[in-house]
Order: sequence, then structure tokens, then C-alpha cells
Amino acid sequence: MNRSLLWFRHDLRLEDHPALQAALAAGGEVLPVYIIDPQQGAAGSYGIPRMGPFRAQFMRQCITLLDQQLRAIGSGLQVHEGRPAEVLTALSVEHQATAVFAQAHLAWEEQQQEQAVSAVLPLHLGAPGTLLHPVDLPFELERLPRVFTAFRHKVEAHWAVRPTLPAPTELHTPIAWTSRPLPPLFADHAAPQKDAREVMPMNGGADAAMERLTHFTGASRALGHYKETRNGMLTADESSKLSPWLAAGALSPRTVYEAVRSYEAQHGANESTYWLIFELLWRDFFHFTAARYSADLFKRGGIARATPRGVYDQRRFEAWCEGRTGQSFIDANMRELSATGWMSNRGRQNVASYLVHDLGLDWRLGAAWFEHLLVDYDPCSNWGNWQYLAGVGNDPREGRRFNPDLQAERYDPQGSYVDRWKR
Ligand SMILES: Cc1cc2nc3c(=O)[nH]c(=O)nc-3n(C[C@H](O)[C@H](O)[C@H](O)COP(=O)(O)OP(=O)(O)OC[C@H]3O[C@@H](n4cnc5c(N)ncnc54)[C@H](O)[C@@H]3O)c2cc1C
Repeated sequence: MNRSLLWFRHDLRLEDHPALQAALAAGGEVLPVYIIDPQQGAAGSYGIPRMGPFRAQFMRQCITLLDQQLRAIGSGLQVHEGRPAEVLTALSVEHQATAVFAQAHLAWEEQQQEQAVSAVLPLHLGAPGTLLHPVDLPFELERLPRVFTAFRHKVEAHWAVRPTLPAPTELHTPIAWTSRPLPPLFADHAAPQKDAREVMPMNGGADAAMERLTHFTGASRALGHYKETRNGMLTADESSKLSPWLAAGALSPRTVYEAVRSYEAQHGANESTYWLIFELLWRDFFHFTAARYSADLFKRGGIARATPRGVYDQRRFEAWCEGRTGQSFIDANMRELSATGWMSNRGRQNVASYLVHDLGLDWRLGAAWFEHLLVDYDPCSNWGNWQYLAGVGNDPREGRRFNPDLQAERYDPQGSYVDRWKR
């Protein structure tokens, strides 16, 4: 009997999963596997461990739920630790699997993994986790506009979002394919302490993702005034808070798109409904930028190949990380990040600008700290946004400098946010 390995990556769901559907269409038995590459846990730039406690916990929850969902349809997830090419080769020999199916990913490290796997096994890559399929873009990836507005105008003129795919109701997997204990990176991470001030509990897994999406685009009607509230920093419904699930792939952006269209059909379209899709296009833009510029996304000079001035200064960097710069708006945001793994988009823009333009530090320090702590860390969005703020990325201007006093006056006029995170 024909057997294929289904390699889960940043796509921890069964719904709207093109690679899973392709594995099913190939016929035979399917062996689902998730591989933790030791590089994910290793210390990255400047000795900062890449995966911190918030993301480790969220990923553990996503993986556990995915295993349960697979078991419910007659299958199950095996979790292994190692380099994907080596693990997949060993599994293909042990279980006589002849091919690997996986979702493509557009970031450099993930593309390196794909190259290594395809050198040793037939690898069938499904569409990446973007709203728009790269082949539906009205231009070749090499001709991706450098500026977001140009990108948006082009794709909006040729709007093509493919419909979502249903989750399978059964999957044939050999009986010998049994679950295994989680490898240390996820199993050993002490669960982070809960902080009662967190903006919203964020639990991993596709069920929690759908619950959040249904709440935001359903009964709460929060979507209807998203454009006016999205810069808020205090409450759950000010913005969608879907990013952790989108980053882990527990939720597909096309599912979000369909939920927005369905809201519009029921309650009418407005600027807010458009704006959520607009933000998903930003996400796509950073993903396509990552594919277009590969390793340059992580380099000091960025995709612009510029010569930034930032330096490495341990003392200033630690003050920033620990929320001890003396600038109360910046410090409050950094404390929220350390205590919960979350920070609003408004906060992220401000603390990034502060690190680069006020503290004069190398932007990659900030990006590495975000990678460590953010529960929604996504390589393309994180490093792309940092480059943008630092003036070495897609921004047509030379970086964005925010005045934190003015920002606090505008976005935290009563000082409630700073007060919440004053220690
Ligand atoms: C320095 C910096 C680092 C960032 N790092 C990350 C990261 O690692 N992971 C991540 O998902 N987002 C990152 N962002 C983008 C943005 O801050 C978050 O996506 C957003 O705050 C998540 O909150 P939300 O889900 O409520 O967003 P909403 O406002 O509800 O937006 C809906 C969705 O659109 C996408 N989105 C919104 N804004 C952006 C943006 N600027 N860039 C890319 N996608 C966007 C997200 O997937 C988000 O969930 C970063 C922004 C900055 C300035």
C-alpha cells in the first residue's frame, strides 16, 4: 500500500489545508508528523534563546489538540525532534513511506529545510499559509513591489482569494503509527505564570482559534468598529487578537477572510470590515517579501542593503527589555510583553522605534527579543516589521520615529495603560 508522510509545520490545523488534501488525493495511508528542529530552541543572535515560554506553551497546546483531532478521524500525530531531512528520511525507511507532503513556507530557514528534504525525498509542497496564493499574484515574485501601497493596489485590482477546503472526516494511518511523548523543548518548558492583567487568555489550537474568530466576527460585532478601536491597548476586542493562531497555522487567513465576507453579507460592509482584510494583506506582503529577499530579511542592512547606525550596548538593551528605560509608555509595553508574551501593534511600533531611534541600538537585538517572547512570533511579520521601523526594509521613508510622549497622549490619554503596567 502507498504511504506518505504528512509533515506539519506552521499549519497546525485540519481545515483549509491544501497539503493534507493533496496527501489524501494521492491515496493510500498518511502518516502525520511534526518535527521540532533543535534550532528552534537554540540561542540565536546575541545569545537570546529563540523560543521562549509563551510560544512553547502555545505550540504545545496546538500540537496536543491537533493530535486529538487526528485521532478522532482514525489517525494521530507523531512528534519528533531533529533536523527535518534526517527525521523524515528515517521515518520513510522505517514505515516504507515514499513521499512527503507539506505546506510551503516562505521564510528563509523554512525554505532551507524544504531544500534539504527535497534533496533526499520526493517532497510535494502545498500553498503557503497566505491569504493569496503566490501563483494568483498579478506579477512574478521577483517583481514584488517594494512598497506596500503599490502591492495592495495591484492585488486589489485582481482580487483572487481561493475558497477554503473542508477538514477531512477520515484519514487512513497504519496502526503502528502511535503517539510519542513530546520532546524536551515543548515538554520541559515551565508553563509561564498567569498574569491577571493580560489582555486576553490565548490558548493554542484550532478550536480556540475558531472560538475567537466567531466571537470577533460574530455576536460581539467587534469587527464592525475595528478600524476605530484597533490602536487600543487595553481590551480584547479592540483588535482581532488572531495573530497567535495565524502564526502557528491553527487558523487559515482564508477562513478569516470568509468570516469577514459573511459578516458583511449579514451586517453590511464598512471601513472596518475592509480594514481587517487590509491587515491580512500586510501579513501577505511581509510573507512575500521574505520569499523575495530570503536571508536579507535577517541581515543588519536589511532588504534595502542600507548601513544602519545602531550599535550593541548591553546596558541600554537590558533596560529596554526589562522596561527600565525611564520612558513610562515604552516601559509599560515592555513589561506587558515580558509578563504575557503579548503587545499591541501600537506598542510594538513604539518600542521598536524607541530601541532604534532613541536608544541607538542595532534593530536585530529588538527583533531577537520579540522572537523569544512573542506568543504570535512569525519570522516574516516580525523581521519585516522591524526592518520597516529601522529604515532598512520596505518603508519608502528612512525609518519611522515615533514620539512616545505624543503617542501616549493620543493612545493612552487617561494613562490607564501605563498605570496597569507600571510595575
Ligand atoms: C516591530 C513589530 C514586530 C511584529 N512582530 C509580529 C510577529 O512576530 N507576528 C505577527 O503576527 N505580527 C507581528 N507584528 C504585526 C502586528 O503588530 C501584529 O500582527 C498585531 O499586533 C496582532 O494583533 P491582532 O491579531 O489583534 O491584529 P489585528 O489588528 O486584528 O490584525 C489582523 C491580523 O492582520 C495581521 N497583521 C496586522 N498588522 C500586521 C502587520 N503590521 N504586519 C503583519 N501582519 C499584520 C496579523 O496576522 C493580525 O492577526 C509586528 C509588528 C511590529 C511593529
